[in-house]
Amino acid sequence: MINRLLSYESIVGAPAISQIRQLAAPLEGASVVHVNSTRVGGGVAEILAWLVPMMQELGLDVDWEVVTGNAAFFDVTKTFHNGLQGKPVPLPSSMIQAYEEVSDANAERLRDKLEAADFVIIHDPQPARLLKLCPNRKGMWVWRCHIDASHPNRRIWNYLRQQVEGYNASIFSMPSFAKSLPHPQFIIAPSIDPLSDKNRDLEDTFISQTLERHGIPNDAPLITQVSRFDRFKDPIGVIEGFKLLNSSTDAHLVLAGGGATDDPEGQAVYDEVIEAADADPRIHVLLLPGDAHREINALQRASVVVVQKSLQEGFGLTVTEAMWKGKPVIGGNAGGIRLQVYNHYTGFLVESPQGMALRIRELLRHPRKRSRMGATAKQLVTENFLLVRHLREYLTLMLGVRSGLANHLVAQ
Ligand code: UDP
Repeated sequence: MINRLLSYESIVGAPAISQIRQLAAPLEGASVVHVNSTRVGGGVAEILAWLVPMMQELGLDVDWEVVTGNAAFFDVTKTFHNGLQGKPVPLPSSMIQAYEEVSDANAERLRDKLEAADFVIIHDPQPARLLKLCPNRKGMWVWRCHIDASHPNRRIWNYLRQQVEGYNASIFSMPSFAKSLPHPQFIIAPSIDPLSDKNRDLEDTFISQTLERHGIPNDAPLITQVSRFDRFKDPIGVIEGFKLLNSSTDAHLVLAGGGATDDPEGQAVYDEVIEAADADPRIHVLLLPGDAHREINALQRASVVVVQKSLQEGFGLTVTEAMWKGKPVIGGNAGGIRLQVYNHYTGFLVESPQGMALRIRELLRHPRKRSRMGATAKQLVTENFLLVRHLREYLTLMLGVRSGLANHLVAQ
């Protein structure tokens, strides 16, 4: 069996790993089920891909389940996502019906396992209704919201609130996302796995082969945004900003993304991006498979500047990934990007394509500033956004909610 924890000692130090083992010891053998809506694509799948094996290695009995659904279901859950992020979206009864029917079917399939588990961690709105459909729950249920829910559309939140208020606790990425709910809310920022294919060191030859394979020149300054093709990620704004750089630079733009299986809008946004790129040979729009982690790693490493011009963002793991690789990030002034991009220190926060172009020009002209910012960015990630800190907070939360239940039972 791979000893992952041991490998992390060289990055975070032995005491941090020993602390994790200490926290996990009282949870040994506890059954934990994580439920989300896709195994590939997007930040949640990215986190669960390391969190689940790490918890298993610590002696917890962990499973990862994925809710399945039809196109109508994922249309509704995308509507929830958009509505939580503040978009004015409709919620007719037909949509509620589609959501509830698919939730019922998933509950039929998963009920025995979920009701028996010591901890159930439900990620985002897609599986949120499972709690109501599992009345004989034995363990603690936690709703983990990864979305920027600071200013939700009222109609959507009123419905979702009914689904999540019965949980024992919820987790948000930032204090400003927390909601009025009748249970404890925890603030836990996401993190990246520094030893995963997405983030570990790569040989230079693999990086240049990746560029070559996609027809991207090796000797031009590269500006990259990695994202699902989603309007909140503002790929069109990125293209606009890039076009404002005009011919005074020889930079190329890479927009790399792929589909998440739970994202029905991806194709339409991709088509809009292709149209906006207008066959400009300096703009490379790449549609990558969900497991192209090393390629994304290579593209981020090959870049001089990474952009994440989101209009709303729960956290933005792509920002963390770029910063871990020592890249300054030009980020949209939104949600969790603000936790990572500190103006003039780890990159720049921008509000418009014009702002993006201005800051790219500045960074292209000043290589020393780029490397200074990149080094600060890497340090910020090392200290705050690596998986060991994240795991520690999960374990602490689990111990906390479990003893909360014990106290509650004693009090009765
Ligand atoms: N990602 C990927 N392939 C893609 C697009 C994104 O592997 O084509 C990864 C990206 O590297 C990051 C995650 O998916 O790890 C996206 O997480 P983020 O928090 O940035 O955004 P989300 O998609 O969750 O809104």
